[in-house]
Parts: sequence; C-alpha cells; structure tokens
Amino acid sequence: MSYAERGWAVFPLHSPGPQGCSCGRSDCGGKHPRTAHGFHDATTDPQAIEGWWSRWPGAGVGIRTGASSGLVVVDVDPGHDGPASFAALVREHGGLRQPPPRVRTGGNGWHLYFAHPSVTIRNDAGRRLGPGLDVRGDGGYVVAPPSGHPSGHHYRWVGAANQPAPMPGWLLERLTPVPVSPRRRVPLDLSTSRLSRYASAALRAEADAVALAPDRERNDTLNRAAFNLGQLVGADALDHEVTRGTLEAAAEAAGLGQRETLASIASGLRAGMERPRALTVLSQRSDHRLRTRTEAAAVSRQPDPVLRELSR
Ligand SMILES: [Zn+2]
Repeated sequence: MSYAERGWAVFPLHSPGPQGCSCGRSDCGGKHPRTAHGFHDATTDPQAIEGWWSRWPGAGVGIRTGASSGLVVVDVDPGHDGPASFAALVREHGGLRQPPPRVRTGGNGWHLYFAHPSVTIRNDAGRRLGPGLDVRGDGGYVVAPPSGHPSGHHYRWVGAANQPAPMPGWLLERLTPVPVSPRRRVPLDLSTSRLSRYASAALRAEADAVALAPDRERNDTLNRAAFNLGQLVGADALDHEVTRGTLEAAAEAAGLGQRETLASIASGLRAGMERPRALTVLSQRSDHRLRTRTEAAAVSRQPDPVLRELSR
C-alpha cells in the first residue's frame, strides 16, 4: 500500500454496501474498525496489510493520525459551516504557507493533511478551530481513499496525494495552547498579548536565566536578556510592557536592587528594539517558521485557491 510506504500506519475498516454495513447491522455508518483494537492495530508492515486486505478485499482504509504516522488531519465539515470557519481562520491569520494535500470525503466534506509537528496534538471536535472543524491528531484516525461512504460516494484525493504540508504557525498555536508550567520561576502574564510560541518561549527562558543567574553574573545576564528580548519587541513579537514587567520580576527574584535594574532593563530593551530580529530566519525548526507581519498580510490579500476549492 502506498500509504504504508510513506510511513502512514493503516488498518482495515468496515465498509458500507447495498445491504448495509459489512458488520451486518443495517443501521451502521460503516466507518468503524474491522480489527479488535482499531487504530491501535494500524501498521506499516506490508505483510500484515496484505493479510487484512486478502481477507477483506473491500475493506475501507483507516489511517492512524498523530506522531506515529506523522500526520494531523483537519476535517472540514460542510454540514456545520466548516468551510466558512476555515476561511475565516485563514483570513485572520494570513495564509496556509503551502496547500495541504486534500481528500474529498464521502460525506462531501474535506480532509486537509498536515505534517505532525512533533508535539502532542489532541483530537478535537470544533473547539479549537471553530464550528465544523475537527482535528484528528494523536489517538485518532481518518477514513482514507478509496473507502466508501454510506452516501455511495467514495473518499478521493483532489490533486496529488503529496506529502503533508507543514502546519502554518497560527494553526500550530491554535492546536497547542502554551502550557502553564507549575515550576515556572517568574509569573508571565500571557493573557495581555498574543505571543507566538517562539517569543513566549524566549521570554520564559531569558526570565529564568536572569532569576537563576549566579550573583557575579546577574547584571550581565540581565543586560543580555533585555537586549535579546528588545530585539523581539522591536520585531513586534513581544509586548513591550509585558516584557519589561517580566524582566523586572526576574531581576527582583535574582536579588538585584531596583534602581539599577530599571535603568538596565530600559536601556537593554531600547538597544535591542533598535535592532529588531528578523523573525523569518529565527525559527528553531524550519517548518515552524514564524512569518513577519508584512509577509502574512501579503498572503492574506491573495485569494487562496484552497479556500475557493473548499467552498465548492
Ligand atoms: Zn458496521
């Protein structure tokens, strides 16, 4: 199976037919697993796959999503305004970076295939992305082409079944809310500004470095942190007040006197802001690259061909 060759773990599903589901019940939607443990049985092993499909030639194909297959699938359900919800998200955040491979589902919806970002992505039904948008991540599966659907239509690829697209940063942020660490040394007020994951991680790391610096290095560490974070403030990735407040709290935790601290922070931030960091080259991983605002705006002005397609 070509899915298994690309590392997507598959397993057989029951299939709908003229006499109802292959499980024998007439009231069944026919998309449930054939095997006892469902997606836990999913594999890329050609022998196991061949065994299943020689036993059940008409079985539907389930693909396990999540880290094991390297997949996160967004399910766009036209029955609950999924296409409109998705278009609104893309307009708000500015683009898809790269069109994801798309499956037209038997129920007239869409499955968008994104690369798993190596942090846990939970399944979700309409909460994180909006009405009509479900997420199949770790601990989930999707029905894949050429499976049948009770409607009589088959799941099919629209365009090429390419490798999954990297998630745009905004989608990753939506699906992985910044966790509140109980061991955080300095409280961060993340509610006052929408921080990117990168920027909030940088803020936390610099604040910890200051708070935990050995006595002799406290001043140098604070100056360096203020400069580094100032560069992110200058790039619009961090809020000035939030950053200053966080550094002040960190300096206080380090036992620095207030007067010298305030001056150091102010001048460090100012110096950094004069040399804003170019966020496009800053990413820890190239597939989670942050976009500058102008770049995002340029994308959002173009009508997205994927969105046009989804609304059909
Ligand atoms: Zn059934």
